[in-house]
Amino acid sequence: MSEIIIPTSFDTQTADAVVIGGGIVGASTAFWLSKAGMKVILVEKKEGLSSLTTAASVECFRTQFTEAAMAEIALPSVDMFENFEEVVGISDIDIGITQRGYLFVTDDPSMIPDLEKAKQRYDELEIPGSELITGSDLHKRFPFLAKDALAATFNARDGWLSTHETTYGFAKGATDARFFMKTEVVGLGTDEQGISSVETDKGTISTRLVVNCAGPYAKPVAQMAGVDLPLRTVRRQKAYIRTSHPDLPTDAPFTVDLVNHGYWRPEAGGLLCAWVDPDEPDSPPSDELPTDWDFAAESIHRASRLNPFFEQVADELKGEDINVSAGQYVYTPDDKPIIGPCDEMPGLYLNCGYWCGVMMSPEAGKRVADLAVGKMHNQDNALRYSRFKEGIAQKGDTFLK
Ligand SMILES: Cc1cc2nc3c(=O)[nH]c(=O)nc-3n(C[C@H](O)[C@H](O)[C@H](O)COP(=O)(O)OP(=O)(O)OC[C@H]3O[C@@H](n4cnc5c(N)ncnc54)[C@H](O)[C@@H]3O)c2cc1C
Repeated sequence: MSEIIIPTSFDTQTADAVVIGGGIVGASTAFWLSKAGMKVILVEKKEGLSSLTTAASVECFRTQFTEAAMAEIALPSVDMFENFEEVVGISDIDIGITQRGYLFVTDDPSMIPDLEKAKQRYDELEIPGSELITGSDLHKRFPFLAKDALAATFNARDGWLSTHETTYGFAKGATDARFFMKTEVVGLGTDEQGISSVETDKGTISTRLVVNCAGPYAKPVAQMAGVDLPLRTVRRQKAYIRTSHPDLPTDAPFTVDLVNHGYWRPEAGGLLCAWVDPDEPDSPPSDELPTDWDFAAESIHRASRLNPFFEQVADELKGEDINVSAGQYVYTPDDKPIIGPCDEMPGLYLNCGYWCGVMMSPEAGKRVADLAVGKMHNQDNALRYSRFKEGIAQKGDTFLK
């Protein structure tokens, strides 16, 4: 049984493993470590799980990755989302999975070879259901697109879900795990063997295994053990638009304009839209991120280019119909997460460095557990931390990151 509590100060506790961070990545990691037979404590500084970056996301998942190391995590994760009740062993959990696909679309003829190459990579990686759709087919299947739209990659299996329900599903399904809320990690104890304890503002937890799932705070948390992770945090915003405009295609996929990095998808009561600004500067990890007053207008403007119905929707919008929120993507030098042991500090494991932590969380948590109990060797783990020192880390060409 798992337990989610807000402890008062406690005497020294012991655990086989301590997970730092109660976002979707930490909850999945705690779940899989508990399933591997470990007594787990997860510590989260906020009052509830899924309260920081996980709550800020647009909650999407996809199979469309051109890099093997990413597809290896993303594909089994989609399988687990599809069979979530069975995976966590709870029969009445509804994560609101909606599979309407990801549509990466362009109106720029010079990009067509990039789409063809992506489709070829999906086939090489044996990603089922990948499509390259062009010309009149594209307009027949997605009639809301502007007539200039030329080509798209699509996979109907991609989609979105409730991150809140998924995070709590992992927590409730964990076996021997306690989830300590409002408990902040302030230090990591080490001795000649490596990690020896986790110091929190409520008390000490004695352990030999710590997994850093602290999202945007993964770098400062690792620094508590003297490890300097190569992570950058970058603010990303999203706009929720409340609308019941009849022109809104409520059955549309998650649609990405590959030319201007704008994206949108239908959401209950309206839609979500945003754009990934390549010039957004790094910002320090923070719980209080400012939002730009013109972000929603800019996102709508970008989405309108290939989704002209946005112009009709925008005409009728009032200020109170728009809500902009922000979180942070975490980038590594090769834009892929770091999963597994930290060779600079025995006992410290990493599950961090995500711009796509929602969609990777199920299999990433499982991989940490497999590595921790020796079911997987770290040399077979393409997302190991030591790849940076080994000089094998390379940026890929996956769309939208
Ligand atoms: C606008 C936007 C859209 C996005 N859309 C998607 C998407 O569609 N699909 C997708 O896969 N990803 C998306 N992402 C990225 C995704 O949200 C993150 O990669 C994911 O939520 C990371 O989860 P996490 O558990 O690692 O981090 P978090 O959810 O940030 O959890 C980390 C937790 O650690 C806690 N913590 C930190 N330091 C301490 C400490 N010292 N002591 C105790 N607790 C601590 C924090 O309070 C926090 O709750 C999006 C992000 C943004 C901002």
